[in-house]
Amino acid sequence: MAVTEEKLNEEKKSLSFVEQFVEEDLAAGKNGGRIQTRFPPEPNGYLHIGHAKAICMDFGVAEKYNGVCNLRFDDTNPSKENNEYVENILHDISWLGFKWGNIYYASDYFERLWEFAVWMIKQGKAYVDEQTSEQIAQQKGTPTTPGTASPYRDRPVEESLALFEQMNTPEAVEGSMVLRAKLDMANANMHFRDPIIYRIIQTPHHRTGTKWHTYPMYDFAHGQSDYFEGVTHSICTLEFVPHRPLYDLFIDFLKEMDGTADNLKDNRPRQIEFNRLNLTYTVMSKRKLHTLVDEHLVSGWDDPRMPTLCGMRRRGYSPESVRMFIDSIGYTKFDALNDMALLEASVREDLNKKACRVSAVMNPVKLVITNYPEGQTEEMEAVNNPENEADGTHSITFSRNLWIEREDFMEDAPKKFFRMTPGKEVRLKNAYIVKCIGCTKDAEGNITEIQAEYDPQSKSGLEGANRKVKGTLHWVSAGHCRKAEVRVYDRLFNVENPSADERDFRELLNPESLHVYDNCYVEEYAAGKKPGEYLQFQRIGYFMADPDSTTDHLVFNKTVGLKDTWAKQNK
Ligand code: ATP
Ligand code: MG
Repeated sequence: MAVTEEKLNEEKKSLSFVEQFVEEDLAAGKNGGRIQTRFPPEPNGYLHIGHAKAICMDFGVAEKYNGVCNLRFDDTNPSKENNEYVENILHDISWLGFKWGNIYYASDYFERLWEFAVWMIKQGKAYVDEQTSEQIAQQKGTPTTPGTASPYRDRPVEESLALFEQMNTPEAVEGSMVLRAKLDMANANMHFRDPIIYRIIQTPHHRTGTKWHTYPMYDFAHGQSDYFEGVTHSICTLEFVPHRPLYDLFIDFLKEMDGTADNLKDNRPRQIEFNRLNLTYTVMSKRKLHTLVDEHLVSGWDDPRMPTLCGMRRRGYSPESVRMFIDSIGYTKFDALNDMALLEASVREDLNKKACRVSAVMNPVKLVITNYPEGQTEEMEAVNNPENEADGTHSITFSRNLWIEREDFMEDAPKKFFRMTPGKEVRLKNAYIVKCIGCTKDAEGNITEIQAEYDPQSKSGLEGANRKVKGTLHWVSAGHCRKAEVRVYDRLFNVENPSADERDFRELLNPESLHVYDNCYVEEYAAGKKPGEYLQFQRIGYFMADPDSTTDHLVFNKTVGLKDTWAKQNK
């Protein structure tokens, strides 16, 4: 008995506050025990890792409590939205591994929202204002001083109804009129000071075309859509806390219109807010991400340096690593800045379990095994993943002429240098122990070739071959490898929190965020790997083939290094 109780308490402690609210509502028998959430992206850009946090919460709660999570595209501003974004959002959510129930669009409700707005006008709860947005803003007042009423506030209902009709014609001029809710110009909550609920937009809508000319604002569409769909828990980010009373009020009005006001507890979505995800050395604002793309400061939404899910996917992040990271940071009521290094640690942890180990040389120098016969080759067995035996092995060709990393050789090496240096032995991974016997240089003193002799008795896997040598180096056979371009990325921004900086965010971009190594060699087996297949270039890091890769020109992205070297460099 005691054990069970203890366990129950533990479970309670590990519940997020959102889950605690959900459990309270379930215990109180609200909504007949039904749990329904939604993820409500506006299709005006690509999803980023911040959205992934919301997705994990919205879908996670539904999964955990046997509910359903629907997708709802909040498409109420046609001037910024299109179908390309819709398609990519669907793809990204699937990639993260979540399954939605239905797909809804706020635009499905334009008719109902219009009727609701007309009802509001008839009830004296809304009016058409013909002032400019500047005038309206000036009359808003401040949190401590009340606002001023619009001269149109008390215009006759009939006039507002007629003008509202006019707002929805092709002739209506954008900005000439708005519909405002008639609430309370002195309310301490600024959102109650007669908020704008409809504005004129003449750009055709990606779904409804030119049927509508006036569109509801976020506050007049979001909660209402939740209500129409039967959402029970409307989970969103903290900036919506001050909107919540308005969210609730509009639902009260809707219920009044529907005649269900006496039954307020039933079918009433509850808004719950959690902290946004902010990451160091990047930006999450869609406006800024748009600027990066539009001004060609990155190669596109899926540039591997972008915080977008498509960028992370292209770079080689796994969906599991993104979810693991989001799990690790948790959900709170306070905004904070999360360390990018934490995300990278999750990526490393997950890819260690998944990545196929291959050999690649980024900065090559020739190594000749002088006692290995010209023309002879041997197939060496290479383990695909020491973390998972089931992944099997592949073969890598060994020969007399190899490429190794330039920095793995030193002519006059200090005592603790356990890589290649004249007179010392090292093991070539999956192959033989070799002893360096010298090197050749050009007129400028650059090393052009290294020579070594191999010990035929030391082949990896042979009995007794395992004599102790300190270093193991990776290599590829010069005649059995493929040239490749490797793209190595650094932080996109030079400052930890670009959003908190007063300078223009473009000035904060890291000019060194992309390094292209165009003279790399990868073993044949790696050359056959496609985007989506996780690789580890042994001793270097995790990599993935880029969609730019062709059979004639291989391109790989560096996902993340094996260790967090970056943290140290900056100390
Ligand atoms: P916009 O500036 O265009 O409103 P947005 O980032 O809010 O951009 P939406 O498409 O409206 O984009 O977001 C969909 C959902 O994702 C919302 O519920 C929003 O609260 C959530 N979301 C957006 N950014 C973050 C973030 N950084 N962390 C957590 N959730 C986020
Ligand atoms: Mg938004």
